[in-house]
Amino acid sequence: MTMTTEPTTSRAAGRAVDAGRLFAAGVHADLDAHRRAYGDLPVRNPDAMLAELEASGLTGRGGAAFPVHRKLAAARQAAGGRRGRAPILIANGTEGEPLSSKDAVLLRNAPHLVIDGLLSAARTIAARNVLIVAEGDSLRAVERAIAERPDARGIEVVEGAEGFVSGEASALVNLIGNDDPRPVDHTARLTTAGLRGRPTVVQNVETLAHLALVARRGATWFRSVGDPVDPGTRLVTVSGDVPREGVFEVRTDATIREVLAALRPDFGAIAAALVGGYHGAWVPERSFDLPLTALDLAPFDATPGAGIIRVLGADHCALSATARIVRYLAEQSTGQCGPCVFGLPTMADRFSAIASGHAPIENAADLTRLAGLVVGRGSCHHPDGTARLVRSALAVFAEDVRSHARGRCVRRSR
Ligand code: SF4
Repeated sequence: MTMTTEPTTSRAAGRAVDAGRLFAAGVHADLDAHRRAYGDLPVRNPDAMLAELEASGLTGRGGAAFPVHRKLAAARQAAGGRRGRAPILIANGTEGEPLSSKDAVLLRNAPHLVIDGLLSAARTIAARNVLIVAEGDSLRAVERAIAERPDARGIEVVEGAEGFVSGEASALVNLIGNDDPRPVDHTARLTTAGLRGRPTVVQNVETLAHLALVARRGATWFRSVGDPVDPGTRLVTVSGDVPREGVFEVRTDATIREVLAALRPDFGAIAAALVGGYHGAWVPERSFDLPLTALDLAPFDATPGAGIIRVLGADHCALSATARIVRYLAEQSTGQCGPCVFGLPTMADRFSAIASGHAPIENAADLTRLAGLVVGRGSCHHPDGTARLVRSALAVFAEDVRSHARGRCVRRSR
């Protein structure tokens, strides 16, 4: 997709679009603009900060939606106050997912909010090493921001690696520790034994920006918007068949339709949206009134993931679009695990055969069975995410699958 460099702000969409939190300092905010908008970062007692985070309900915005306070508390407990076990904190600003640009937009426009969150989280767990991993212009924006403030001089900046799975937490740790950007199968959790065997916390940069706001304004303020179970706001990257693409900050209870309304699309010309990215799931247009939460999207096995909505026009072949993604995902395997080496290329071949109309209807059932076989058997979740996408496409576009098996596509393919 075309890289969006600034957040898309639009009041026209009503309550769904709320760009007032993460980008209150404006675009490309320097330290002065940041301080004018947010004031100084308060120094909070670690126990009080953990309690505030727990009360806020803040979850990770990198895809897994893990409660932030639990990850921090686990690392602090594993360290046990011993100097040799002092935790390592890593801010993850890499975006291997081709449909996401929200972390790049955040780092380029609000790097000081991310740094605030990193410093606050580091203080909370008494981290001895603090790093930010980013790429390209985002990395340079972070370096400029660090140079502006003495309190950030101890932060180490690391250049991320290319590749879909290189942003996975264990891959980041492997990159930093061994210059190898492949995920590692961890028998122990990273929060117990990560980089250099020390308790390690990897947090997405957007998560840290929200954490900085909780540190300043508290849990009650944070929960004042959004879904009661998963409160606050989130960044969403919207792309595909819409009048323009963009990165929005939206309330977590905004529906898919409310988010897209900011772009004024012709909903009648939309077939579906891929929600959550390449490891996500398809949601048909008739269900766009569902809020963008894991609970509400559960019937489709979808989650917001890293905040991604990819819109598919009604005149584009959903099966061909999915086949291209499955092929890409098969090629993104790091070649370490059986399900990726043997399962994903076969799944890509079979999906391509279905999409091109060269496969009998039985192929769909066979593909569903194959997708079930790879789940939970890789070192990382790459096979699981690929299987989710395949099963989702076969279910949501079942009528298309039947038409293709009869040798004809109900839509015009690109
Ligand atoms: S599951 Fe696939 S992508 Fe993940 S580590 Fe194994 S081979 Fe690499």
